[in-house]
Amino acid sequence: MRLGAHESAAGALATAFDLAREDGAESLQIFTRSSRQWAAKPLAQADIDGWKAAWALSDIGPNEVMIHTSYLINLCAPDEENRVKSIAAFTDEIVRSEQLGIRWLNTHPGAVKEQSESWGCVEVAATVDRCLEASGAVNTMVVIENTAGQGSNIGYRFEHLRDIIGASRYPDRIALCIDTCHAFAGGYDLGSAEACEEMLQQLKQTVGWDKVAAFHLNGSMGGLGNRKDRHDQIGVGGITAEAFAHLVNHPAFENTPAMLETPPLESGERSFRTNLDRLKAMRRPS
Ligand SMILES: [Zn+2]
Ligand SMILES: [Zn+2]
Repeated sequence: MRLGAHESAAGALATAFDLAREDGAESLQIFTRSSRQWAAKPLAQADIDGWKAAWALSDIGPNEVMIHTSYLINLCAPDEENRVKSIAAFTDEIVRSEQLGIRWLNTHPGAVKEQSESWGCVEVAATVDRCLEASGAVNTMVVIENTAGQGSNIGYRFEHLRDIIGASRYPDRIALCIDTCHAFAGGYDLGSAEACEEMLQQLKQTVGWDKVAAFHLNGSMGGLGNRKDRHDQIGVGGITAEAFAHLVNHPAFENTPAMLETPPLESGERSFRTNLDRLKAMRRPS
């Protein structure tokens, strides 16, 4: 597993590679626009060039970088205004991904409000199709992330992810990211190595392991099935170190990027460095 982190790209995108190096990250996730604002300036050519130059000097490979989209985007927004804004923002995210040469574009599917979850899966697929077409992108893969199922968010069951891919006209352009915190909050036990394997088997049976482009490795503050999206440090709370060790050493995901999105540490130490050290210490010789 290529152990990495979500690093800040504020200021200049290329600075994320410096932070990744300092943390010992082997894979990298970034935002390319504000995660909490609709408006975004187009990428400057100098920023794109700087990004590509820094990447070329890095040990992080072509399949080990992922963009996370803005949290505002709701691909199945039932209300018109929100849907229109989401379509524009998501299309822009795909364009940026293509400009930066980043293959993976990770997004949460969306929240259905009063609508049904099955309706939401079809709507997410339709929006993804429409935005892929509008973007003109040929390389970018849309990566749908499983969610904690907070509020009316869909994507907390692997069946939702399967149904989104199944409803798309471009199933080969859609891959998946599995977040450990979200899986646990969504009801998949990760309290032991055996439970982790059981979660992976359900994933295999529902969507197939070959669809998994990346993992997000996060502890969970809440208990199993609590449906709250609250990340914790690695090895703290209900997701055990044994479960993480099982995943980190899993032969099926030997080359899969896995990024941390853990919260800051109260001690002031770098959360990513500390948690990456913990995860690397779990590695067993294969
Ligand atoms: Zn995540
Ligand atoms: Zn989360």
